[in-house]
Amino acid sequence: MDINMSMEEKEEFLKRVEQNGCWIWKGNVNSQGYGRFSYGGKLELAHRASARIFKGIVLEGRKDGTLSRVCSNPLCVNPSHIEVAFKKDVVRKALWSQFVKENPEELTRFRRAKIENKNELNRAYNEWIEKAHKKRPD
Ligand SMILES: [Zn+2]
Repeated sequence: MDINMSMEEKEEFLKRVEQNGCWIWKGNVNSQGYGRFSYGGKLELAHRASARIFKGIVLEGRKDGTLSRVCSNPLCVNPSHIEVAFKKDVVRKALWSQFVKENPEELTRFRRAKIENKNELNRAYNEWIEKAHKKRPD
């Protein structure tokens, strides 16, 4: 049996869900307020189970990945509301928004000039990273 493709597991999962845009978990909830899904003797957080069952995303053993919701409902298990984020992407995003915050003039200059390629902005970003001694994610 392919564990990702089990129809029975899918059905069992959906029995515990109320769908109204978000998929509200109606099954077991842990002390942190997250849904828990038990199937085949295995207990799993419901949003993780959802990502695995419906999207084939398995994060077990991967320390660099986290699952987050695009909605802010902790009981939502809608696979299309669940995104996988890898640490380096999170760091990259945070660095970029810090750069933009600290160097608004660079962005304004870039936009005003309507420069087609982003090389100049990237150069400014890279210089900022070096100057601020930021560690760049690989
Ligand atoms: Zn949702």
